[in-house]
Amino acid sequence: MNYYSLNKNAPNVSFQEAVIQGLAPDKGLYFPKDISKLPQSFFDSIENFSNAEIAFQVIQQFVGNEIPEDELRRIILETLSFDFPMVEIEENIYSLELFHGPTMAFKDVGARFMSRCLAYFNRDKNQKNTVLVATSGDTGGAVASGFLGVKGVDVVILYPSEKVSDIQEKQLTTLGQNITALEVDGVFDDCQDMVKRAFLDEDLMFKNLTSANSINIARWLPQMFYFFFAYKELKKENKQLVISCPSGNFGNICAGILAKKLGLPIEHFVASTNINDTVPEFLKTGKYNPKPSKATISNAMDVGNPSNFIRIQELYENDLDNFKNDFSSYSFSDEETEKAILEIYKQSKYIAEPHGAVGYLGLKKELENEPNSIGIFLETAHPIKFSDSVEAILSVKLQIPKQIESVLDKEKKSLKIKNYEDLKNFLLL
Ligand SMILES: *Cc1c(COP(=O)(O)O)cnc(C)c1O
Repeated sequence: MNYYSLNKNAPNVSFQEAVIQGLAPDKGLYFPKDISKLPQSFFDSIENFSNAEIAFQVIQQFVGNEIPEDELRRIILETLSFDFPMVEIEENIYSLELFHGPTMAFKDVGARFMSRCLAYFNRDKNQKNTVLVATSGDTGGAVASGFLGVKGVDVVILYPSEKVSDIQEKQLTTLGQNITALEVDGVFDDCQDMVKRAFLDEDLMFKNLTSANSINIARWLPQMFYFFFAYKELKKENKQLVISCPSGNFGNICAGILAKKLGLPIEHFVASTNINDTVPEFLKTGKYNPKPSKATISNAMDVGNPSNFIRIQELYENDLDNFKNDFSSYSFSDEETEKAILEIYKQSKYIAEPHGAVGYLGLKKELENEPNSIGIFLETAHPIKFSDSVEAILSVKLQIPKQIESVLDKEKKSLKIKNYEDLKNFLLL
């Protein structure tokens, strides 16, 4: 399988090269050159397949022969070592819970898949890759856990000191081995700027730096899997499906749209955002106008210039009418989000966290136009990850799940850094 850069100014590369490089040399995101529909027979009998078999059928064309079949199957089994329950919280409204992985965030799926692909590509080499990521919270934990102990890969995570929750900090800083947490005296944007600078730094080329956010195809593509799992479960209802994704960098929803290109019968997508409404505005005005991000209670979606939007534009052939066929996008305030968390709890005794609640709001809005459909919103994190808001809104005390409990009494280990020179010196050690 070949991948091209969406900036169209770099050579095509293989799956392996795209995973190792992350971003193309012209700074474009990689995109698959060919996308083939899965055979109708696959959809006709999908209910007979295990999740791992479905995932294999879905991802195989994107990996090609670069990972042998038995290795790819093993990688998938390790990636999908937890459940993806669908919980009906109202008639015809489902929460697709993506938070049952080791760090209780959906990013576990992509991080686990990517780490194992990199490990496979490094299997006989002495060379190492260094994964460098900046995190405002959830990405860092998922990457740390996904890459822990993976051969041939060192992971360096930059996070803003005192700006992530206690649970998130523990998930980042307590693992040790090949994971190092750098605690930055600054905000998330400072971390992000340093990471970007390091990728461009000639002196660091020999470190084989790569990224592990959803710009990397090995983190993005496996996010298709759970859209197929949802279809497998609801197929028997014989109704049209509307799926709402709480969106920040738009990697998740972009994977859903790609799944539809493979033939998955999803009627409509909703990209639900907080007040960072660059995409909802684009659908209204036809103009893509990125803005600085604003802080909200659904902070993993505080993104003013979503990095995967360019992939969505490619999938819709840069045509606004194509977009409007099966894609809507709505934005919601923190007040609306808090109210939704409370109402969902009162009506259904279901505890949603702020990101899922934004997804729920977008879904409800879209279903006004399509009342006979089944609606699914993605619940992208466990409420415990955002316990400060959830407990305050609902006046409840959340139980701490065992995945989280196991890191809470481990010792935090981080290196404090102040500026880019500190980062560079660390990487050159
Ligand atoms: C990362 C994240 C999102 C946003 O996902 P994108 O793929 O970037 O749109 C939503 N919710 C949670 C909890 C996240 O961690």
